[in-house]
Amino acid sequence: MTDIKSKDKLYIANTYSRLPVEIARGKGSLVYDTDGRRYIDLGSGIAVNTFGVCDEEWIKAVTEQLNAVQHTSNLFYSEPCATLAEILCKRTGMKKVFFANSGAEANECAIKAARKYGEEKKGKDCYTIVTLYNSFHGRTLATLAATGQDVFHERFRPFPSGFVYADANDIESVKKLCSENKVCAVMFEPVQGEGGVMPLDVYFVKELYAYCKEKDILLIADEVQTGNGRCGKLYDYMNYGIAPDIVTTAKGLGGGLPIGACIMGEKCADTLTYGDHGSTFGGNPAAAAGALSIINRIDEKLLKGVIEKSEYIFGELSSADGIVSVSGRGLMIGIKTEKPVKDVQSECIKRGVLCLTAKDKLRLLPALNIPFGLLKEAVSVIKRVCAEL
Ligand SMILES: *Cc1c(COP(=O)(O)O)cnc(C)c1O
Repeated sequence: MTDIKSKDKLYIANTYSRLPVEIARGKGSLVYDTDGRRYIDLGSGIAVNTFGVCDEEWIKAVTEQLNAVQHTSNLFYSEPCATLAEILCKRTGMKKVFFANSGAEANECAIKAARKYGEEKKGKDCYTIVTLYNSFHGRTLATLAATGQDVFHERFRPFPSGFVYADANDIESVKKLCSENKVCAVMFEPVQGEGGVMPLDVYFVKELYAYCKEKDILLIADEVQTGNGRCGKLYDYMNYGIAPDIVTTAKGLGGGLPIGACIMGEKCADTLTYGDHGSTFGGNPAAAAGALSIINRIDEKLLKGVIEKSEYIFGELSSADGIVSVSGRGLMIGIKTEKPVKDVQSECIKRGVLCLTAKDKLRLLPALNIPFGLLKEAVSVIKRVCAEL
């Protein structure tokens, strides 16, 4: 471990602060470090390992594809990515998919589609995109500009222009920006993840949907983190009874391999045309085959389990000692602790439970199929740490 630590420090760019564990292997929701210590994983590689580590069906799907062909480029037809697109469209009622390799890239595609749509429908200066304060949409320059948190903007100017920020849960703030600017789209996360696991109000999202529809402004749901069963439905917008024009996703879709998707509805499915966008790796056959095995198992039974486990966590932790509040939806949960969250996180690690953080909260993003027994064990550790620290 000390070897790896010093090599990492010497050769890896300083952009990450690592937790003091080297995960060497795992199975399901259990991971083991290089000394063979066991941890219950409540982070899933930041909501990526949808069915945990070394999920057999996913490995089978990916390796079968690897044994056929690992990459073709988008110059050729490829079955896994066509079938994945078909399933995503059928299960959302949307029309076309562009595949990328990450959440930020999925959002870049959505931004380009929205701008072209705006220009075609309302003229050249209709390019502004409204996003929400406290949002997070990625690390590329455009998606950073879309991110409504000043901390991300400090050192990297100039940004692409054309992004303005409204207050979350305040429809009047959105309407004001839409009257002051020529707006082509509004982009939001149903649950603001990096912003501290804050679900948007149902009333606000419904109003937003109605307003955008009325004004022919595209509604973009950034479901990079909330999607793929995480919040108890296939996509979290379904919990609001709305239909966005674009849904972007990544993280859990790939089950551990990089893939992002920009799923476009009726209005803008044909906005992007030949030459408008592209990606060398986007829709890579191995990643797409893995994603197919994930999406095909996100069914009613699994989602029922997600909701039951969520209710269990809320029930156990909401009024526990040392815990101020619990927020989130499904298996995307934020816990505001009385003690500093970094201390709580490191004490949990010492006691064999891996949790993430988001702002000042402990963040839980367990695998959707985490066995109840392991979840109970992990929750009782969190409970004890919060009470005793
Ligand atoms: C993680 C995340 C992104 C960025 O995804 P990357 O794959 O890291 O580029 C964008 N939006 C939301 C809501 C996210 O949670």
